[in-house]
Amino acid sequence: MAAFEYDLVTLGAGSGGVRASRLAGGYGARVAVIEESRVGGTCVVRGCVPKKLLIYGAEFARSFQDARGYGWTVGDVHLDWPALVASKNRELDRLEAVYRNTLKSNHVELVEGRGRLVDPHTVEVNGRRMTAQRILVAVGGWPVLPDIPGVEHAITSNEALDLPRLPDSIVIVGGGFIAVEFAGLFHALGCAVTLVIRADNILRGFDQDIREHLVAELEHQGITICRKTQVQSIRCEKDGRRMVTLQDGRILACEQVMYATGRAPNTAGLGLEEAGVALDPRTGAVQVDAWSRTNVSSIWAVGDVTNRINLTPVAIREGACFSETEFNNNPMTPDHANVASAVFSQPAVGTVGLTEEKARARGPVDVYMTRFRPMKNTLSGREEHTMMKLLVDRATQVVIGAHMVGPDAPEIIQGLAIAVKAGLTKKDFDATVGIHPTAAEEFVTLRTPRPDLASV
Ligand code: NDP
Repeated sequence: MAAFEYDLVTLGAGSGGVRASRLAGGYGARVAVIEESRVGGTCVVRGCVPKKLLIYGAEFARSFQDARGYGWTVGDVHLDWPALVASKNRELDRLEAVYRNTLKSNHVELVEGRGRLVDPHTVEVNGRRMTAQRILVAVGGWPVLPDIPGVEHAITSNEALDLPRLPDSIVIVGGGFIAVEFAGLFHALGCAVTLVIRADNILRGFDQDIREHLVAELEHQGITICRKTQVQSIRCEKDGRRMVTLQDGRILACEQVMYATGRAPNTAGLGLEEAGVALDPRTGAVQVDAWSRTNVSSIWAVGDVTNRINLTPVAIREGACFSETEFNNNPMTPDHANVASAVFSQPAVGTVGLTEEKARARGPVDVYMTRFRPMKNTLSGREEHTMMKLLVDRATQVVIGAHMVGPDAPEIIQGLAIAVKAGLTKKDFDATVGIHPTAAEEFVTLRTPRPDLASV
Protein backbone atom coordinates (compact mmCIF):
# COMPACT_ATOMS: atom_id res chain seq x y z
CA MET A 1 0.00 0.00 0.00
CA ALA A 2 1.34 3.42 -0.92
CA ALA A 3 2.33 5.55 2.04
CA PHE A 4 0.71 8.62 0.51
CA GLU A 5 -2.59 9.12 -1.25
CA TYR A 6 -0.88 11.13 -4.02
CA ASP A 7 2.56 11.36 -5.57
CA LEU A 8 2.03 15.09 -6.04
CA VAL A 9 -0.38 17.68 -4.72
CA THR A 10 -0.03 21.07 -6.35
CA LEU A 11 -1.38 24.22 -4.76
CA GLY A 12 -2.50 26.55 -7.54
CA ALA A 13 -3.68 25.84 -11.08
CA GLY A 14 -1.89 28.68 -12.81
CA SER A 15 0.78 28.52 -15.49
CA GLY A 16 3.46 26.82 -13.39
CA GLY A 17 1.16 24.55 -11.41
CA VAL A 18 -0.75 23.28 -14.42
CA ARG A 19 2.39 22.56 -16.45
CA ALA A 20 4.02 20.67 -13.58
CA SER A 21 0.84 18.73 -12.74
CA ARG A 22 -0.06 17.72 -16.24
CA LEU A 23 3.47 16.56 -17.02
CA ALA A 24 3.62 14.57 -13.78
CA GLY A 25 0.19 13.09 -14.50
CA GLY A 26 1.31 12.23 -18.00
CA TYR A 27 4.31 10.39 -16.57
CA GLY A 28 1.96 8.23 -14.54
CA ALA A 29 2.10 10.01 -11.17
CA ARG A 30 -1.05 10.27 -9.03
CA VAL A 31 -1.61 14.02 -9.05
CA ALA A 32 -4.14 16.44 -7.60
CA VAL A 33 -4.15 20.20 -8.12
CA ILE A 34 -6.00 22.52 -5.76
CA GLU A 35 -7.36 25.84 -7.02
CA GLU A 36 -9.49 28.34 -5.13
CA SER A 37 -10.26 30.56 -8.12
CA ARG A 38 -10.45 29.83 -11.83
CA VAL A 39 -8.16 27.39 -13.58
CA GLY A 40 -5.46 29.20 -15.57
CA GLY A 41 -4.12 31.53 -12.89
CA THR A 42 -3.01 35.11 -13.28
CA CYS A 43 -1.92 34.82 -16.89
CA VAL A 44 -5.12 33.39 -18.30
CA VAL A 45 -7.68 34.81 -15.90
CA ARG A 46 -6.47 38.27 -14.88
CA GLY A 47 -3.15 38.97 -16.56
CA CYS A 48 -1.42 38.46 -19.87
CA VAL A 49 -4.30 37.07 -21.90
CA PRO A 50 -7.19 39.40 -20.99
CA LYS A 51 -4.84 42.40 -21.05
CA LYS A 52 -3.56 41.54 -24.50
CA LEU A 53 -7.07 41.01 -25.84
CA LEU A 54 -8.11 44.46 -24.57
CA ILE A 55 -4.96 45.96 -26.08
CA TYR A 56 -5.81 44.40 -29.43
CA GLY A 57 -9.21 46.07 -29.05
CA ALA A 58 -7.59 49.41 -28.26
CA GLU A 59 -5.22 49.23 -31.23
CA PHE A 60 -8.12 49.62 -33.62
CA ALA A 61 -8.44 53.22 -32.45
CA ARG A 62 -4.93 53.90 -33.75
CA SER A 63 -5.67 52.07 -36.98
CA PHE A 64 -8.76 54.21 -37.60
CA GLN A 65 -6.64 57.34 -37.09
CA ASP A 66 -3.80 56.06 -39.32
CA ALA A 67 -6.16 54.91 -42.07
CA ARG A 68 -7.00 58.47 -43.13
CA GLY A 69 -3.47 59.08 -44.40
CA TYR A 70 -3.89 56.01 -46.58
CA GLY A 71 -6.96 57.37 -48.32
CA TRP A 72 -9.67 55.86 -46.18
CA THR A 73 -12.68 57.83 -45.14
CA VAL A 74 -13.36 56.79 -41.62
CA GLY A 75 -16.79 57.70 -40.34
CA ASP A 76 -17.86 57.96 -36.74
CA VAL A 77 -16.35 55.08 -34.87
CA HIS A 78 -17.56 54.04 -31.47
CA LEU A 79 -16.37 51.43 -29.02
CA ASP A 80 -18.89 49.27 -27.22
CA TRP A 81 -16.73 48.62 -24.15
CA PRO A 82 -19.10 46.10 -22.50
CA ALA A 83 -19.13 44.16 -25.79
CA LEU A 84 -15.32 44.09 -25.85
CA VAL A 85 -15.21 42.93 -22.22
CA ALA A 86 -17.85 40.26 -22.93
CA SER A 87 -15.92 38.95 -25.97
CA LYS A 88 -12.76 38.86 -23.93
CA ASN A 89 -14.55 36.93 -21.19
CA ARG A 90 -15.89 34.39 -23.66
CA GLU A 91 -12.33 33.73 -24.79
CA LEU A 92 -11.21 33.33 -21.18
CA ASP A 93 -14.00 30.80 -20.62
CA ARG A 94 -12.79 28.88 -23.66
CA LEU A 95 -9.20 28.92 -22.43
CA GLU A 96 -10.18 27.85 -18.96
CA ALA A 97 -12.01 24.87 -20.44
CA VAL A 98 -8.86 23.98 -22.42
CA TYR A 99 -6.83 24.06 -19.20
CA ARG A 100 -9.38 21.90 -17.39
CA ASN A 101 -9.38 19.39 -20.25
CA THR A 102 -5.59 19.27 -20.24
CA LEU A 103 -5.61 18.36 -16.56
CA LYS A 104 -8.29 15.76 -17.11
CA SER A 105 -6.61 14.14 -20.08
CA ASN A 106 -3.43 13.81 -18.01
CA HIS A 107 -5.37 12.19 -15.16
CA VAL A 108 -4.88 15.12 -12.78
CA GLU A 109 -7.63 15.49 -10.20
CA LEU A 110 -8.81 19.09 -9.83
CA VAL A 111 -9.95 20.01 -6.33
CA GLU A 112 -11.70 23.37 -6.09
CA GLY A 113 -11.17 25.18 -2.81
CA ARG A 114 -8.46 26.85 -0.77
CA GLY A 115 -5.67 24.49 0.15
CA ARG A 116 -3.57 24.86 3.25
CA LEU A 117 -0.50 22.96 4.37
CA VAL A 118 -0.95 21.02 7.58
CA ASP A 119 2.47 19.37 7.65
CA PRO A 120 5.21 18.63 5.08
CA HIS A 121 3.13 15.87 3.47
CA THR A 122 -0.45 16.95 4.14
CA VAL A 123 -2.71 19.55 2.61
CA GLU A 124 -6.19 20.38 3.82
CA VAL A 125 -8.90 21.60 1.48
CA ASN A 126 -12.65 21.88 2.11
CA GLY A 127 -12.16 19.98 5.38
CA ARG A 128 -10.49 17.09 3.54
CA ARG A 129 -6.91 16.07 4.28
CA MET A 130 -4.82 14.89 1.34
CA THR A 131 -1.43 13.30 1.81
CA ALA A 132 1.27 13.55 -0.82
CA GLN A 133 4.83 12.44 -1.25
CA ARG A 134 5.60 15.79 -2.86
CA ILE A 135 3.86 19.14 -2.57
CA LEU A 136 4.31 21.89 -5.14
CA VAL A 137 3.44 25.45 -4.15
CA ALA A 138 2.43 27.44 -7.22
CA VAL A 139 -0.03 29.96 -5.85
CA GLY A 140 1.31 33.04 -7.65
CA GLY A 141 1.08 36.63 -6.50
CA TRP A 142 -1.50 39.30 -5.86
CA PRO A 143 -1.49 43.12 -6.25
CA VAL A 144 -0.28 45.08 -3.24
CA LEU A 145 -1.73 48.46 -2.35
CA PRO A 146 -0.14 50.83 0.12
CA ASP A 147 -2.07 51.66 3.24
CA ILE A 148 -3.20 55.22 2.52
CA PRO A 149 -6.50 56.93 3.38
CA GLY A 150 -9.14 56.12 0.77
CA VAL A 151 -7.22 53.31 -0.93
CA GLU A 152 -10.47 51.33 -0.89
CA HIS A 153 -11.67 53.66 -3.67
CA ALA A 154 -8.91 52.41 -5.95
CA ILE A 155 -8.93 49.41 -8.26
CA THR A 156 -6.11 47.13 -9.40
CA SER A 157 -5.51 45.50 -12.77
CA ASN A 158 -7.87 42.72 -11.62
CA GLU A 159 -10.85 45.07 -11.70
CA ALA A 160 -9.59 47.21 -14.58
CA LEU A 161 -10.02 44.26 -16.91
CA ASP A 162 -13.73 44.06 -16.13
CA LEU A 163 -14.90 47.61 -15.56
CA PRO A 164 -18.62 47.93 -16.28
CA ARG A 165 -17.98 51.20 -18.13
CA LEU A 166 -14.97 52.78 -19.72
CA PRO A 167 -13.85 55.64 -17.47
CA ASP A 168 -13.43 59.11 -18.99
CA SER A 169 -10.32 59.58 -16.87
CA ILE A 170 -8.01 57.41 -14.83
CA VAL A 171 -5.09 58.01 -12.49
CA ILE A 172 -2.69 55.08 -12.54
CA VAL A 173 -0.24 54.80 -9.66
CA GLY A 174 3.08 53.08 -10.41
CA GLY A 175 5.47 53.03 -13.32
CA GLY A 176 6.10 49.33 -13.86
CA PHE A 177 4.89 46.81 -16.44
CA ILE A 178 1.25 46.93 -15.45
CA ALA A 179 0.97 50.71 -15.02
CA VAL A 180 2.55 51.43 -18.38
CA GLU A 181 0.52 48.81 -20.23
CA PHE A 182 -2.80 49.98 -18.80
CA ALA A 183 -1.87 53.62 -19.39
CA GLY A 184 -1.48 52.82 -23.09
CA LEU A 185 -4.65 50.77 -23.17
CA PHE A 186 -6.88 53.40 -21.57
CA HIS A 187 -5.28 56.29 -23.44
CA ALA A 188 -5.84 54.58 -26.79
CA LEU A 189 -9.49 54.12 -25.86
CA GLY A 190 -9.88 57.83 -25.25
CA CYS A 191 -9.54 58.12 -21.45
CA ALA A 192 -7.52 60.95 -19.96
CA VAL A 193 -4.63 59.11 -18.31
CA THR A 194 -2.34 60.37 -15.55
CA LEU A 195 0.53 58.25 -14.30
CA VAL A 196 1.78 58.97 -10.80
CA ILE A 197 5.30 57.67 -10.25
CA ARG A 198 7.43 58.00 -7.17
CA ALA A 199 10.69 57.86 -9.17
CA ASP A 200 11.76 60.23 -11.92
CA ASN A 201 11.06 57.72 -14.67
CA ILE A 202 9.00 54.66 -15.57
CA LEU A 203 10.16 51.03 -15.90
CA ARG A 204 12.93 50.85 -13.35
CA GLY A 205 15.47 48.21 -14.32
CA PHE A 206 15.01 48.69 -18.06
CA ASP A 207 17.69 50.23 -20.27
CA GLN A 208 17.87 53.98 -19.61
CA ASP A 209 17.53 54.96 -23.30
CA ILE A 210 14.48 52.72 -23.64
CA ARG A 211 12.89 54.32 -20.59
CA GLU A 212 13.56 57.82 -21.83
CA HIS A 213 12.34 57.09 -25.33
CA LEU A 214 9.13 55.47 -24.14
CA VAL A 215 8.29 58.09 -21.56
CA ALA A 216 8.78 60.83 -24.16
CA GLU A 217 6.42 58.98 -26.53
CA LEU A 218 3.80 58.57 -23.81
CA GLU A 219 3.94 62.25 -22.92
CA HIS A 220 3.85 63.23 -26.58
CA GLN A 221 0.65 61.22 -26.97
CA GLY A 222 -0.92 63.16 -24.14
CA ILE A 223 -0.46 60.92 -21.12
CA THR A 224 0.31 63.10 -18.10
CA ILE A 225 3.13 61.92 -15.88
CA CYS A 226 3.46 63.18 -12.31
CA ARG A 227 7.01 62.33 -11.27
CA LYS A 228 8.70 62.06 -7.90
CA THR A 229 5.49 62.13 -5.95
CA GLN A 230 3.12 59.74 -4.27
CA VAL A 231 -0.57 59.58 -3.57
CA GLN A 232 -1.36 60.86 -0.11
CA SER A 233 -5.08 60.13 -0.05
CA ILE A 234 -8.08 59.35 -2.22
CA ARG A 235 -11.54 60.75 -1.63
CA CYS A 236 -14.72 59.58 -3.29
CA GLU A 237 -17.19 62.38 -4.08
CA LYS A 238 -20.96 61.98 -3.94
CA ASP A 239 -21.10 61.58 -7.72
CA GLY A 240 -18.52 58.79 -7.55
CA ARG A 241 -15.60 60.81 -8.88
CA ARG A 242 -12.28 60.35 -7.15
CA MET A 243 -10.14 63.19 -5.83
CA VAL A 244 -6.53 62.09 -5.59
CA THR A 245 -4.29 64.21 -3.38
CA LEU A 246 -0.58 63.96 -4.13
CA GLN A 247 2.21 64.58 -1.65
CA ASP A 248 3.29 67.62 -3.67
CA GLY A 249 -0.11 69.18 -3.03
CA ARG A 250 -1.66 68.58 -6.44
CA ILE A 251 -5.22 67.25 -6.49
CA LEU A 252 -6.27 65.13 -9.46
CA ALA A 253 -9.95 64.56 -10.22
CA CYS A 254 -10.77 61.37 -12.10
CA GLU A 255 -13.32 58.63 -12.56
CA GLN A 256 -11.05 55.74 -11.56
CA VAL A 257 -7.83 55.31 -9.65
CA MET A 258 -5.82 52.22 -10.40
CA TYR A 259 -2.91 50.94 -8.35
CA ALA A 260 -0.13 49.04 -10.12
CA THR A 261 2.52 49.25 -7.45
CA GLY A 262 3.73 45.70 -7.63
CA ARG A 263 2.55 42.25 -6.68
CA ALA A 264 3.40 40.15 -3.64
CA PRO A 265 3.69 36.37 -3.34
CA ASN A 266 0.42 34.81 -2.23
CA THR A 267 1.90 33.06 0.77
CA ALA A 268 -0.19 34.43 3.64
CA GLY A 269 -2.39 31.91 5.42
CA LEU A 270 -1.12 28.96 3.40
CA GLY A 271 0.37 27.08 6.34
CA LEU A 272 3.87 27.42 4.93
CA GLU A 273 5.46 28.66 8.13
CA GLU A 274 3.70 25.91 10.10
CA ALA A 275 5.12 23.33 7.69
CA GLY A 276 8.56 24.85 8.26
CA VAL A 277 8.99 26.39 4.79
CA ALA A 278 11.41 29.33 4.76
CA LEU A 279 10.02 32.56 3.33
CA ASP A 280 11.89 35.68 2.31
CA PRO A 281 11.40 37.95 5.33
CA ARG A 282 11.06 41.04 3.12
CA THR A 283 8.76 39.81 0.34
CA GLY A 284 7.15 36.68 1.78
CA ALA A 285 8.34 34.72 -1.27
CA VAL A 286 9.02 31.01 -0.87
CA GLN A 287 12.77 30.55 -0.87
CA VAL A 288 13.95 27.90 -3.32
CA ASP A 289 17.18 26.61 -4.81
CA ALA A 290 17.97 26.11 -8.50
CA TRP A 291 15.83 22.94 -8.47
CA SER A 292 12.85 24.87 -7.03
CA ARG A 293 13.30 22.96 -3.76
CA THR A 294 12.37 24.65 -0.51
CA ASN A 295 14.20 23.93 2.72
CA VAL A 296 11.59 21.20 3.44
CA SER A 297 12.54 18.13 1.44
CA SER A 298 8.99 17.24 0.36
CA ILE A 299 8.00 20.76 -0.75
CA TRP A 300 8.87 22.63 -3.97
CA ALA A 301 7.69 25.99 -5.30
CA VAL A 302 7.54 27.52 -8.79
CA GLY A 303 6.33 30.72 -10.42
CA ASP A 304 5.55 34.15 -8.97
CA VAL A 305 5.29 32.77 -5.44
CA THR A 306 9.08 32.38 -5.53
CA ASN A 307 9.59 35.93 -6.87
CA ARG A 308 12.43 34.97 -9.21
CA ILE A 309 11.45 36.26 -12.66
CA ASN A 310 7.72 36.86 -12.51
CA LEU A 311 6.77 35.94 -16.04
CA THR A 312 4.44 33.20 -17.28
CA PRO A 313 6.92 31.37 -19.53
CA VAL A 314 9.42 31.30 -16.67
CA ALA A 315 6.84 29.74 -14.32
CA ILE A 316 6.02 27.19 -17.01
CA ARG A 317 9.69 26.35 -17.44
CA GLU A 318 10.19 26.03 -13.67
CA GLY A 319 7.14 23.75 -13.42
CA ALA A 320 8.33 21.62 -16.32
CA CYS A 321 11.84 21.25 -14.87
CA PHE A 322 10.37 20.17 -11.54
CA SER A 323 8.28 17.42 -13.11
CA GLU A 324 11.00 16.28 -15.50
CA THR A 325 13.36 15.95 -12.56
CA GLU A 326 10.99 14.34 -10.09
CA PHE A 327 8.74 12.23 -12.31
CA ASN A 328 10.64 11.54 -15.52
CA ASN A 329 14.15 10.82 -14.25
CA ASN A 330 15.35 13.71 -16.43
CA PRO A 331 17.02 16.18 -14.04
CA MET A 332 16.93 19.76 -15.26
CA THR A 333 16.95 23.23 -13.77
CA PRO A 334 15.39 26.35 -15.28
CA ASP A 335 17.84 28.76 -16.88
CA HIS A 336 17.02 32.29 -15.78
CA ALA A 337 19.70 33.95 -17.91
CA ASN A 338 18.79 36.12 -20.88
CA VAL A 339 15.03 35.77 -20.46
CA ALA A 340 13.39 38.11 -22.95
CA SER A 341 10.43 40.19 -21.91
CA ALA A 342 8.05 42.76 -23.30
CA VAL A 343 5.94 45.62 -22.13
CA PHE A 344 2.78 45.83 -24.19
CA SER A 345 2.75 49.58 -24.00
CA GLN A 346 1.95 51.76 -26.98
CA PRO A 347 4.52 51.77 -28.52
CA ALA A 348 5.62 48.41 -27.17
CA VAL A 349 8.94 47.48 -25.63
CA GLY A 350 10.91 44.29 -26.21
CA THR A 351 14.10 43.50 -24.37
CA VAL A 352 16.60 40.69 -23.91
CA GLY A 353 19.95 40.53 -22.17
CA LEU A 354 21.78 43.27 -20.34
CA THR A 355 20.87 46.92 -20.16
CA GLU A 356 23.64 49.38 -21.04
CA GLU A 357 24.04 50.18 -17.34
CA LYS A 358 24.51 46.51 -16.40
CA ALA A 359 26.73 45.83 -19.43
CA ARG A 360 29.05 48.73 -18.57
CA ALA A 361 29.35 47.49 -15.02
CA ARG A 362 30.80 44.28 -16.48
CA GLY A 363 33.31 45.87 -18.85
CA PRO A 364 33.78 47.86 -22.07
CA VAL A 365 30.81 47.74 -24.40
CA ASP A 366 30.00 48.89 -27.94
CA VAL A 367 26.59 50.52 -28.15
CA TYR A 368 24.71 50.56 -31.44
CA MET A 369 21.56 52.61 -31.52
CA THR A 370 19.07 53.91 -34.04
CA ARG A 371 15.95 56.05 -33.90
CA PHE A 372 13.71 56.40 -36.89
CA ARG A 373 10.18 57.02 -38.00
CA PRO A 374 8.64 53.72 -39.08
CA MET A 375 7.55 53.65 -42.73
CA LYS A 376 3.90 53.18 -41.80
CA ASN A 377 3.95 56.49 -39.95
CA THR A 378 5.01 58.49 -43.01
CA LEU A 379 1.61 58.42 -44.72
CA SER A 380 -0.40 58.24 -41.54
CA GLY A 381 1.41 61.29 -40.18
CA ARG A 382 1.80 59.65 -36.80
CA GLU A 383 4.63 61.32 -34.92
CA GLU A 384 5.94 58.24 -33.25
CA HIS A 385 9.49 56.99 -33.48
CA THR A 386 11.03 53.58 -33.10
CA MET A 387 14.22 53.01 -31.14
CA MET A 388 16.56 50.04 -31.28
CA LYS A 389 19.69 49.31 -29.38
CA LEU A 390 22.29 46.57 -29.45
CA LEU A 391 24.94 46.10 -26.78
CA VAL A 392 28.08 44.27 -27.76
CA ASP A 393 30.83 43.09 -25.44
CA ARG A 394 33.85 44.93 -26.84
CA ALA A 395 36.35 42.20 -26.08
CA THR A 396 34.42 39.19 -27.43
CA GLN A 397 32.02 41.01 -29.80
CA VAL A 398 29.20 38.86 -28.37
CA VAL A 399 25.81 40.60 -28.48
CA ILE A 400 24.81 40.83 -24.83
CA GLY A 401 21.69 42.97 -25.07
CA ALA A 402 18.99 43.89 -27.58
CA HIS A 403 16.28 46.42 -26.83
CA MET A 404 13.53 48.02 -28.85
CA VAL A 405 10.63 50.42 -28.50
CA GLY A 406 8.25 50.40 -31.41
CA PRO A 407 5.52 48.48 -33.21
CA ASP A 408 6.01 44.72 -33.01
CA ALA A 409 8.98 45.07 -30.63
CA PRO A 410 7.91 41.98 -28.61
CA GLU A 411 7.65 39.88 -31.78
CA ILE A 412 11.00 41.11 -33.10
CA ILE A 413 12.86 40.71 -29.82
CA GLN A 414 11.54 37.16 -29.42
CA GLY A 415 13.47 36.24 -32.58
CA LEU A 416 16.57 38.11 -31.49
CA ALA A 417 16.43 36.43 -28.08
CA ILE A 418 17.53 33.20 -29.76
CA ALA A 419 20.62 34.94 -31.10
CA VAL A 420 21.44 36.50 -27.73
CA LYS A 421 20.79 33.23 -25.92
CA ALA A 422 23.01 31.42 -28.41
CA GLY A 423 25.82 33.90 -27.73
CA LEU A 424 26.10 35.11 -31.32
CA THR A 425 28.50 37.92 -32.19
CA LYS A 426 28.02 41.24 -33.90
CA LYS A 427 29.71 39.65 -36.93
CA ASP A 428 26.90 37.06 -37.08
CA PHE A 429 24.35 39.87 -37.03
CA ASP A 430 26.28 41.71 -39.78
CA ALA A 431 26.43 38.56 -41.90
CA THR A 432 22.64 38.27 -41.78
CA VAL A 433 20.85 39.77 -44.75
CA GLY A 434 17.90 41.88 -43.70
CA ILE A 435 14.30 41.54 -44.83
CA HIS A 436 13.34 44.71 -46.64
CA PRO A 437 11.38 46.81 -45.94
CA THR A 438 10.99 46.03 -42.27
CA ALA A 439 11.91 47.75 -39.05
CA ALA A 440 13.59 44.58 -37.80
CA GLU A 441 16.24 44.74 -40.56
CA GLU A 442 17.80 47.66 -38.69
CA PHE A 443 19.10 45.15 -36.16
CA VAL A 444 21.36 43.63 -38.84
CA THR A 445 22.41 46.90 -40.47
CA LEU A 446 23.75 48.80 -37.45
CA ARG A 447 27.30 49.62 -38.53
CA THR A 448 28.78 52.33 -36.32
CA PRO A 449 28.91 52.19 -32.56
CA ARG A 450 27.90 55.28 -30.65
CA PRO A 451 30.90 57.35 -29.51
CA ASP A 452 31.89 55.92 -26.16
CA LEU A 453 31.11 58.71 -23.75
CA ALA A 454 32.27 56.58 -20.84
CA SER A 455 35.86 56.55 -22.18
CA VAL A 456 35.98 60.23 -23.17
P1 NDP B 1 6.51 46.34 -11.09
O1 NDP B 1 7.36 45.79 -10.04
O2 NDP B 1 6.87 46.15 -12.52
O3 NDP B 1 6.33 47.91 -10.87
C1 NDP B 1 5.88 48.42 -9.67
C2 NDP B 1 5.82 49.92 -9.79
O4 NDP B 1 5.16 50.45 -8.66
C3 NDP B 1 7.17 50.58 -9.89
O5 NDP B 1 7.09 51.66 -10.77
C4 NDP B 1 7.41 51.07 -8.46
O6 NDP B 1 8.17 52.23 -8.39
C5 NDP B 1 6.00 51.41 -8.03
N1 NDP B 1 5.76 51.32 -6.60
C6 NDP B 1 6.01 50.28 -5.77
N2 NDP B 1 5.58 50.54 -4.53
C7 NDP B 1 5.06 51.80 -4.56
C8 NDP B 1 4.45 52.62 -3.60
N3 NDP B 1 4.31 52.23 -2.35
N4 NDP B 1 4.02 53.83 -4.00
C9 NDP B 1 4.17 54.25 -5.27
N5 NDP B 1 4.73 53.51 -6.22
C10 NDP B 1 5.17 52.28 -5.87
O7 NDP B 1 5.06 45.76 -10.78
P2 NDP B 1 3.75 45.60 -11.64
O8 NDP B 1 2.66 45.62 -10.64
O9 NDP B 1 3.69 46.57 -12.76
O10 NDP B 1 3.90 44.15 -12.25
C11 NDP B 1 4.20 43.04 -11.42
C12 NDP B 1 5.01 42.03 -12.17
O11 NDP B 1 4.17 41.36 -13.09
C13 NDP B 1 6.12 42.60 -13.03
O12 NDP B 1 7.30 42.79 -12.33
C14 NDP B 1 6.28 41.56 -14.10
O13 NDP B 1 7.18 40.60 -13.64
C15 NDP B 1 4.88 40.98 -14.23
N6 NDP B 1 4.21 41.51 -15.43
C16 NDP B 1 4.72 41.24 -16.66
C17 NDP B 1 4.11 41.72 -17.78
C18 NDP B 1 4.68 41.41 -19.11
O14 NDP B 1 5.50 40.51 -19.20
N7 NDP B 1 4.33 42.13 -20.15
C19 NDP B 1 2.90 42.52 -17.72
C20 NDP B 1 2.46 42.77 -16.38
C21 NDP B 1 3.09 42.28 -15.30
P3 NDP B 1 9.79 52.24 -8.39
O15 NDP B 1 10.20 52.10 -9.81
O16 NDP B 1 10.14 53.56 -7.82
O17 NDP B 1 10.19 51.09 -7.53
